Amino acid sequence: MTQGRLLPAPSSQPPISQAFVSKLPASELPVSERLTVGNVAGSEQTGCWVEVLVDCPGVQGVFTYGLSAGLTVQPGDILSVPFGAQQIGGVAVRCFHELPNGVNLAQIREVDGVIARDFFPPSYWTILLRVSEYYCTPLMQVIRMALPTGLLGRSQRRIKLSRDHQQEPPSEVPPHPTLPVAQQILTWLQSSKTGDYSWQHLQRQVPNAYRGLQELLKLGWVESYLQPPTPIRPKQRQAVTLVDHADRALLSPRQQEVLRVLQRQGGELWLTDLLALCQTSSTTLKAIAQKGYLVIQPREVLRSESGVARSPDVPKALTPDQATALAAILPLTGYTSVLLHGVTGSGKTEVYLQAIAPLLPQGKSAIVLVPEIGLTPQLTDRFRARFGDRVCVYHSALSDGERYDTWRQLLTGVAQVVIGTRSAIFAPLANLGLIVLDEEHDSSFKQDQPSPCYHARTVAQWRAELEQCPLILGSATPSLETWLQCQETADHERSAPPTPLYLSLPTRVQARPMPAIEVVDMRQELSRGNRSIFSQALQSALHHLHESGEQGILFIQRRGHSTFVSCRSCGYVVMCPHCDVSLAYHQIHAEARPVLRCHYCNYTQAHPEVCPDCQSPYFKHFGSGTQRVTQALEQEFPALRVLRFDSDTTRTKGAHRSLLTRFAQGEADLLVGTQMLTKGIDLPQVTLVGIVAADGLLHLSDYRASERTFQVLTQVAGRCGRGDRPGRVILQTYSPDHPVIIAVKQQQYESFIQTELEQRATLHYPPYGRLILLKFSGLSPGIVQATAVKIAAALQPLQEQGVERLGPAAAAIERVARRYRWQILLKVPATVAIAAAFFSNLRDLCPSSVSFTIDVDPLSIG
Ligand code: ADP
Ligand code: ZN
Ligand code: ZN
Repeated sequence: MTQGRLLPAPSSQPPISQAFVSKLPASELPVSERLTVGNVAGSEQTGCWVEVLVDCPGVQGVFTYGLSAGLTVQPGDILSVPFGAQQIGGVAVRCFHELPNGVNLAQIREVDGVIARDFFPPSYWTILLRVSEYYCTPLMQVIRMALPTGLLGRSQRRIKLSRDHQQEPPSEVPPHPTLPVAQQILTWLQSSKTGDYSWQHLQRQVPNAYRGLQELLKLGWVESYLQPPTPIRPKQRQAVTLVDHADRALLSPRQQEVLRVLQRQGGELWLTDLLALCQTSSTTLKAIAQKGYLVIQPREVLRSESGVARSPDVPKALTPDQATALAAILPLTGYTSVLLHGVTGSGKTEVYLQAIAPLLPQGKSAIVLVPEIGLTPQLTDRFRARFGDRVCVYHSALSDGERYDTWRQLLTGVAQVVIGTRSAIFAPLANLGLIVLDEEHDSSFKQDQPSPCYHARTVAQWRAELEQCPLILGSATPSLETWLQCQETADHERSAPPTPLYLSLPTRVQARPMPAIEVVDMRQELSRGNRSIFSQALQSALHHLHESGEQGILFIQRRGHSTFVSCRSCGYVVMCPHCDVSLAYHQIHAEARPVLRCHYCNYTQAHPEVCPDCQSPYFKHFGSGTQRVTQALEQEFPALRVLRFDSDTTRTKGAHRSLLTRFAQGEADLLVGTQMLTKGIDLPQVTLVGIVAADGLLHLSDYRASERTFQVLTQVAGRCGRGDRPGRVILQTYSPDHPVIIAVKQQQYESFIQTELEQRATLHYPPYGRLILLKFSGLSPGIVQATAVKIAAALQPLQEQGVERLGPAAAAIERVARRYRWQILLKVPATVAIAAAFFSNLRDLCPSSVSFTIDVDPLSIG
């Protein structure tokens, strides 16, 4: 029978409306499309309800359903549920025994059945719920952030004969179905060789199949399951490969140039990339190909991307410190958090690699989080070289399709290593054996917007606890939060939270020295008549760089982030008398007189014309963007070959990798860039690091300015002297006596952090108490401000519990993208707990024209 054969898996999966949804018979149509009256008798008996995530075209949300007696459901199961007149697929998110407030029993319908069990690890949903609760964000918003959309859309529901009833005679024949439709379905299934059809096909063959299926499922004749979509084959693209040829004399200079570019890139590139790099046409390339100097052919991946053809890497013989750290990590079972405090270049990555290696043969997986994708190519390469294609990269820059494919690969249950940015903490891996956060102090682990404003380190802690696996936090400059946790346990021998394990790698591998840090006082440069943004010392170092063929990195504070005002002659900075942060430069529109304002408490004063301390006229808004610096470099060092590495030049996909590769291959003398440079770049030939002006960081009007400055400066200094030649760091500043600058120069992390902790304790800033930032924005300044004032009044009950309220105040940059921004900062003592419901009630006070974001544990305030 031709129809009896299995349908081949269609190449383009049908949308969920066909694959997953079936119409109920007309007699069961509810009055409206909304969830309406259903049979609740079963739920009343079992007292069990389940929240189901429904995500298919036209319907998205989390809905409550009842469970009939005998049906057990676990979070992570895929269910079939009635919705309006349809049957649709959904994921069980949470089961509970008491109906939540506000849900009307009469409106609840029942789950039809389980399509696939344990599709997600059950603890996965616990994490999402916890994020929703702690970060005061509706669950659906959390799910939207974590899951690719339409995850169920491309899956196919299939029906098969239960194993017992495939052979005749079955071991134990269940009662025969009574409905004719049920008998019809059974006949169809029995006539198929495998006893298996897609639900879609059965529905086409048997009218009103739905009721028949219900009976068969109930009697145990058949089972229902989800067929994962066939993996989408990677797209083929044109790649260009260099062919070895000794004699290029016959080629034109232009053609030779193309070959040289290709050679510098490792002899292989995507056609489109090569065209862009050489500004040439495919006709030119084809002409060279015809002469036999290169080959153009379709390929799935480049060798360098897949990493498969890379020479496999073997574990390195560990240094004694690395060995001690690894020996402490390997025996850990259950949840333990570990701080791996290793100076830059001490070989933390090798410890991660060797900690993960024994997990994979045990069927366990690992998640490795890194701050930014700019760092990932190098790290990913090292992991691929060690673990081959078990390594999977997951980050927000993936396209929807790639994200979806990666997700489905992770759900297969095969042990793997996921490397990614903060959102990878939500990778749906079962059987986690280890979570690593590299550079755990980095603020890009925190999401600022949209909600949920989660911190990947916090979520990682919850996840490791739930999965009972170790969590390694690695850094050369640990965050105050992590440091304090370690200390508290040491000081007071507390048992809860569980003892973080402190492991230290105090020296660089192969006893390479830490780079020497020279601090240059820019006030003196000015008084000596040097108006250049480069000090004498940096100028001569840059000249030397070019002559000696060594490489350097020039670090510039990110544009648009310095809002403080300072004196170029004496370094004076205006501070808020109440909050211990610098006042921010504030100008509402171009003609308005600028003012200085604290955006914690709204203290405001006029912008002084001259320095209040020394009367110097060089008293202005501070800033030196990448463009200004590259221009100055061009004028003052025309021979220096410069590459820009910042958010402008790394916007396109793969740009990070190609810029770093070009720099590593010696295409430039100097890499100029912003914060991105601080993150884990490991290039042995870099011997010079220049910091144009540390002040942009020092005086960020934020209570974390000192901590962040210490971290960024230490990290960027750590980029040099990683090879055989020692490194040199030139740090320019107008505040050479600032305690942070002194601590960085002396590489004294512990004493610095001790002072900083004392100050935080005095002012009740984290980690001694929590902050919650309420942010308001909208097009009308009046309405935004009025809303902030109204909400501030509603916070009275919190203040009675001891919560301190700062503001409402205009944000540091009051107008962004035509929207006015106001905020309220709450200082919550560690002893006070605030119910998530308190904040969701506040949302009702907010008019729809104002957007209201709750940022729990904010890292930047302004
Ligand atoms: P970190 O992450 O601590 O800054 P890395 O892990 O990047 O340091 O290591 C710095 C360099 O030292 C890397 O090039 C790495 O390959 C090398 N390295 C690490 N461990 C060893 C070892 N045990 N023996 C030799 N080289 C090592
Ligand atoms: Zn001054
Ligand atoms: Zn203030």
